[in-house]
Amino acid sequence: MDEFIYRDGALHAEDIVIGELAEAVGTPFYCYSAATLRRHYNVLDAALADAGLDTRLICYSVKANSNLAVIATLAQLGAGADIVSQGELTRALQAGIAPEKIVFSGVGKTAEEMRAALSAGILQFNVESLSEIDLLADTANSMGKTAEIALRVNPDIEAGTHKKISTGSAETKFGIAWEDAEAGFAHARALDGVEAVGIDIHIGSQITDLTPFRRAFEKVADLLARLRADGHEIRRLDLGGGLGVPYGRDNDTPPDPNAYAQMIAETLGDSGCQIMLEPGRLIAANAGILVTSVVRTKQGQAKNFMIVDAAMTELMRPTLYDAHHHIAPVHENAAAVKNWDVVGPVCETGDFLGLDRALPVLEDGDLLAIFAAGAYGSVLGSAYNTRLPAPEVLVDGKKWAVVRSRPDYQALLAGEAIPDWF
Ligand SMILES: *Cc1c(COP(=O)(O)O)cnc(C)c1O
Repeated sequence: MDEFIYRDGALHAEDIVIGELAEAVGTPFYCYSAATLRRHYNVLDAALADAGLDTRLICYSVKANSNLAVIATLAQLGAGADIVSQGELTRALQAGIAPEKIVFSGVGKTAEEMRAALSAGILQFNVESLSEIDLLADTANSMGKTAEIALRVNPDIEAGTHKKISTGSAETKFGIAWEDAEAGFAHARALDGVEAVGIDIHIGSQITDLTPFRRAFEKVADLLARLRADGHEIRRLDLGGGLGVPYGRDNDTPPDPNAYAQMIAETLGDSGCQIMLEPGRLIAANAGILVTSVVRTKQGQAKNFMIVDAAMTELMRPTLYDAHHHIAPVHENAAAVKNWDVVGPVCETGDFLGLDRALPVLEDGDLLAIFAAGAYGSVLGSAYNTRLPAPEVLVDGKKWAVVRSRPDYQALLAGEAIPDWF
């Protein structure tokens, strides 16, 4: 459910008319709905509460949409954050996330990043290799601190999602191999500077079937029992993110948060551990749209192309992940429908937003909305072809604000220089 709704033939974000936003900020731009962000967080939190999971922590996965205003919206609800870099730490803190609700994930944390996170006093590091544990222990010791860690273990489970967003099989770079998990905990126990308090998994993203989650959580329950038998005091289980969302508007049905929460309660509810989740897409995807205008149409023998002013530089998901995003005119339109490839101006064959879409014949300058673009949209943007990054707008009821402005070309080129030997 989201708050992008047609009223009198015009798409609105909550109480704001998208066409008016387009006039004010220019296209292309991202538009986020605060009410939708809040609803997604609250639905998940309520589902966990209803399932009896009383000690829980939802750490929003900042990489899905790291705009400060988006993070701040969730911080106000009491959300924690799952970060994967010092940059995301900076954002999370600046947006008002409490440090004691921040977990630091990722395979490549550097000593500098560890120091920054230790200084900030984050809750937990999710560590992915023994050498990372060693570096973290050294770093913490040198600061006179002890880092609480969860070992990210790789349960070797196929998540049944796109190859590029599967992370839980033994073939990926993520986590400590399942067979090495106990040795990893033993390794950590022998070190000063780290205290292993949790098990962490994250098996992939856009997972639309609960079965792989259930299998992974059952394996976690099993590992937990073995670790406890071995004297490890495990008090947190971080189950990662990955729950899928509908992209097709009405025609696909990902798991219901209640069924997901029930399943967590069934597999791990009596673990006595705090249950942590790291949802990204679930919170942000349907809380955002990308608005673009038609530059011109090109009707050919084989194909009709609708060339718009957004491109793979704004929304990489179609070409990177073969992702489908629903695309519709911002103003309902009764013109004859044809099949179009909706493409951007970037000089790449892979620069498309949607292929073979039934859309009305539009005029140059007409607006299109690309739905469910709030997660892994703007954050994956680039300035390829020296295009200006799209601005971002946050709507909250009758209020709206530009929460990231479009730079000008001078700002874009500011870091570059022609060496003085020229
Ligand atoms: C990307 C990521 C997430 C969020 O995944 P979603 O599918 O967006 O929920 C959570 N945890 C880790 C470790 C991740 O890398």
